[in-house]
Amino acid sequence: MSFTAAIIGRPNVGKSTLFNRLVGSKIALVDDTPGVTRDRRPGEAKIGDLYFTVIDTAGLEEADPASLQGRMRAQTEAAIAEADVSLFVIDARVGVTPVDEHFAELLRRVGKPVVLVANKAEGKVGEAGVLEAYGLGFGEPVAISAEHGEGMADLFAALLPFERPEEEEEAAEDEESDEIIFVEGEEEIAEEPIDPAKPIKVAVVGRPNAGKSTLINTMLGEDRLLTGPEAGITRDSISVDWIWRDRPFKLFDTAGLRKKARVETKLEKLSVGDTLRAVRFAEVVVLMLDATMPFEKQDLQIADLVAREGRALVIALNKWDLIEDRQKTMADLREMAERLLPQVRGVPLVPISGLTGSGIDRLMGDLLKVYGTWNRRVPTAALNRWLAATLEHHPPPAVSGRRVKLRYMTQPKSRPPTFVAFCSRPEALPEAYTRYLLNGLRESFGLTAVPLRLTLRKGE
Ligand code: GDP
Ligand code: GDP
Repeated sequence: MSFTAAIIGRPNVGKSTLFNRLVGSKIALVDDTPGVTRDRRPGEAKIGDLYFTVIDTAGLEEADPASLQGRMRAQTEAAIAEADVSLFVIDARVGVTPVDEHFAELLRRVGKPVVLVANKAEGKVGEAGVLEAYGLGFGEPVAISAEHGEGMADLFAALLPFERPEEEEEAAEDEESDEIIFVEGEEEIAEEPIDPAKPIKVAVVGRPNAGKSTLINTMLGEDRLLTGPEAGITRDSISVDWIWRDRPFKLFDTAGLRKKARVETKLEKLSVGDTLRAVRFAEVVVLMLDATMPFEKQDLQIADLVAREGRALVIALNKWDLIEDRQKTMADLREMAERLLPQVRGVPLVPISGLTGSGIDRLMGDLLKVYGTWNRRVPTAALNRWLAATLEHHPPPAVSGRRVKLRYMTQPKSRPPTFVAFCSRPEALPEAYTRYLLNGLRESFGLTAVPLRLTLRKGE
């Protein structure tokens, strides 16, 4: 029922302003390093009682003016691919520019739904621009002023069709399979059909000197190599094809980043912009730690970023060849991971040596496992049996004298698993209780190493 909208458009049309308007609260910044402060996470947006996820592409275009075009394109394409609908924003005061045309072309090529938004349309100055926008061929533009909050009702109406109806057929199907026994968790969990011929997108991220380049070189070396930019695309290619045990993968191409790093004498600082790009590219992220100095602040920040971006995570403990007391180190690190990273509880910790290549097979095995979990879909009937049992065990507290009632739950989306619960007073349900539900879901359905989402909706 929930859907994802990407905000697309050239710089300065007001994408960030719209994003902030939709999300309605201050967005936590990933890092306070100058120049990267505008990188944002997807936000939970709300217009009226329409809830959806919004992906902001603003800010990224500023990361590297030298390759502005390519990066903007890659970023925009990634956002469009991920979203159910694109909010294509133009500046009504300026009218349609050649760069806008360029974006229009891109959107048309992808062929996914587009809602054209003419921003800065307050007052009369924007009228001509709104009319001009018709010419882009995406139908009637929705005239808004992100800054002044005008036109939100029209935007609501334009987005309403993307709210997928309650998945009735699915619920009905689930109802029929009554013989499923709740306790036998595993059997009843359906994975989204995963097409083994479709490459899985993987990014290796981590602090400078963790050993990312070494690992990737080792992976791409030997006979596993299947390199090269995809046919026809050279400059804009952001991934390298790789095959492991007959499964295709796309590895985020850090080669470009490496080249840059060498020029600027090895970056001391973690580039949050680059990390974010890699994370957003990926379906599964390998966070590489230097096992000789693990879980430093930046490691935790990256893990948190991965969780907020909704990706599945595997942690590689690199330079394991340097560790002496391996058993104790492993136990310590496991304890730290559980304590410091509750948002991806159960995340696999895989000792490897990028230098020698040991551990890579296990890393890939675990990676496939979390990819499966990330794609997992819990059937509605099972979910509601679980909810009933959970509520009985530990009902929501009464708030201002009245009990908050939870009635029904579905998982409309995987990648990552996203749940919706219908609640008599969503705003009154304490966050601790939401956490309790999420932990329960994680436990009961084996949803480890992936971030989970839970949205509360008003419903009787
Ligand atoms: P982005 O580059 O697309 O993220 O654009 P920003 O959100 O940073 O906005 C660019 C500029 O346009 C800022 O100075 C905003 O204050 C301004 N702006 C955004 N929305 C509106 C609007 O609805 N009306 C007017 N007049 N200005 C706006
Ligand atoms: P990046 O900045 O994350 O790409 O890190 P590099 O791949 O450049 O590696 C940083 C340093 O760690 C280099 O001196 C590597 O030789 C070393 N290194 C990488 N992987 C391993 C490993 O598995 N074991 C050991 N002992 N050293 C490693």
